[in-house]
Amino acid sequence: MKLIFASHNKNKVKEIAAILPKNIELVGLDDLNYTQEIDETGATLEENALIKAKHIYEKFNLNCFADDSGLEVEALNNAPGVYSARYAGIEKNDDANMNKLLESLSHKENRKARFRTVIALILNGEEYLFEGIIAGQIINEKKGAKGFGYDPIFAPDGFEKTFAELPSEEKNQISHRALATKKLIGFLNENLCK
Ligand code: IMP
Repeated sequence: MKLIFASHNKNKVKEIAAILPKNIELVGLDDLNYTQEIDETGATLEENALIKAKHIYEKFNLNCFADDSGLEVEALNNAPGVYSARYAGIEKNDDANMNKLLESLSHKENRKARFRTVIALILNGEEYLFEGIIAGQIINEKKGAKGFGYDPIFAPDGFEKTFAELPSEEKNQISHRALATKKLIGFLNENLCK
């Protein structure tokens, strides 16, 4: 069975393809020569993941999934959340985003935060959602150079290090994305491999 991952990120597609059941052929948007960006106009991660999955499902009429992730900070009413990539205004400016977040938390004692991923799957016209969460703390200053996004200021619970200090293999075992992906794969294994 062919399954589309509605993502332009070749690395993400490759990583998931390697762990999917063997009877599933995973293709990304670049494999389909689909170069357009899909507008993420939803107000929640769930809405955005569904918008992307439905858009591609309708375009290609093939089973499809899409993901959306964000950082939710308790003291900021779960901001930046769905706006994580553009928190400081400029799309994907990691440094500006982290500076704004540290500034917003400078007088707050509660540093609790969590990364959350939602995967929306459209399988034979039915919608399914899978969630992955990793809880942690926002530390006071950036530490580490690995990863991306808010990794240098996020320390997962039970670890002394930030995501940007952990080896990528270790982050990829425990991350919000890994947890949501494991749930998706479990579901596909159960439903498509009988
Ligand atoms: P996306 O939905 O995976 O593109 O994530 C949206 C935004 O959330 C990213 O641009 C980052 O700012 C933030 N984000 C998501 N996952 C991570 C992560 O694993 N580490 C750091 N930042 C992340």
